[in-house]
Amino acid sequence: MNSQKTIIVTGGAGYIGSHTIIELLALPNYNIVSVDNYSNSSATTYSRIEMITGKKVKHYAVDLCNKKETESLFESEKNIEAVIHFAAFKSVPESVENPYKYYSNNINSLINVLECCLKYKVSNFIFSSSCSVYGNINELPVKETTPLGKAESPYAFTKQIGEEMIKDYARANPQLQTIALRYFNPVGAHISGFIGESPINKATSLVPIITNTAVGKIKQMKVNGSDYATRDGSCIRDYVHVTDIATAHIKAMYYLIDKKNKSNFSIFNLGTGNGVSVLEAIAAFEKVSNEKLNYTIGPKREGDVEAIYSDNSFTEKHLDWKPIFNLDDMMKTAWVWELEQKKENQKS
Ligand code: UDP
Repeated sequence: MNSQKTIIVTGGAGYIGSHTIIELLALPNYNIVSVDNYSNSSATTYSRIEMITGKKVKHYAVDLCNKKETESLFESEKNIEAVIHFAAFKSVPESVENPYKYYSNNINSLINVLECCLKYKVSNFIFSSSCSVYGNINELPVKETTPLGKAESPYAFTKQIGEEMIKDYARANPQLQTIALRYFNPVGAHISGFIGESPINKATSLVPIITNTAVGKIKQMKVNGSDYATRDGSCIRDYVHVTDIATAHIKAMYYLIDKKNKSNFSIFNLGTGNGVSVLEAIAAFEKVSNEKLNYTIGPKREGDVEAIYSDNSFTEKHLDWKPIFNLDDMMKTAWVWELEQKKENQKS
C-alpha cells in the first residue's frame, strides 16, 4: 500500500505554482498533485518541470469554482497532508476592468477548497496572498501587523476578503492550520531557463512586459506614471525572485506540519525589503541584458499603489527564510526565459 502523503497544489501550472512544484518534488516521501483549469497557463509546463526534475507531475484539470469537480478531486486523492492554494487571477488592471471575473473566481474557488479541506479532514492550508492587501499607506516598510489600508483594486480586495475568510474558518475549525503568505512582487524565472512566467493572456506585470518589449513582442512599453511622490516619480515595489517565493512555501508547509505555529492563522510577508522603482527595474534589466529598452512615460494606472516594500524580519525569524536572489538575478533569469521562449516559437 502506498503510504505517501499527498500535497495538493492548486494553480500548479501557473507561474508561482510551477516553481513551487519543482521545490516540492525534491522532498522525499510526498506525492505532489497539481490542479489547474489552464485559464492562464498551459499543461506543457509539466513536461518542462519533468525536464528540470526528471519527475512526472500528477495533474488534474479542475475548475475549482465548481464544487462537484473540487469534491471529486479530494475524493480521488486520499491522505492529503497539505493544500497550497495558488489558483487565482492576479492582474490589478484586469480586475479594475472586470471586477466580476475576480470576485467570482478568486472567492468561489477559495470557498470550495476550504470546504473540502474541512470535509476531507485536511489540516494544513497555505494561501497565496499579496502585499496589495496593505493598500496605500505611509508607514514603510510594512510589517504583518501594519493595519491594512483600503484595497486599491478588486484584485487586492479579493485577497483581503480571502484572508478574512481563512481567519474565520480557522477560528471556527481549530483542526485547520492556515498560513497566508503576502507576496510582494514575484519576478524572474527558474535558473534552468526552462520555466518562467508565461501567461496565456496578455502580460500585465512589469517584468514580462519589459522582456516582451526587449524581444520585440511589444513595440514600446509605458512606465505607468512619473509624478508619484517617489525618488524618480515612478511607483516603488519590492521585487522578489520566484524561486525564493517557492522555497518559502516549503518552509511554511513544514512550519504547519511540525506544529510550530502559535495560532492557526499566521501571516508572513515575502519580499526582499528593498524598494525598487519602475525606472530602476528598467535600468537593471538594461544593464544585465545589454539591451536598450523602448519605453515611454505614460499615465498613472488605475488601482496602483504608490510605493510598498516589506519588513521581512518576522518571516526571517519564524520561517527561517531569507531570499537569496538579487535584482540582477531576477532580471537575468527573466531574460534567459524570454529568449528560451523565442527559440521555442521559432522552432514551431
Ligand atoms: N508597470 C509599468 N508598466 C507596465 C506594467 C507595469 O509601469 O507596462 C508598473 C505598474 O504600474 C506598477 C509596477 O510596474 O507600478 C508593478 O506592476 P505589476 O503589475 O508588475 O505589479 P503590481 O501592480 O501587482 O504590484
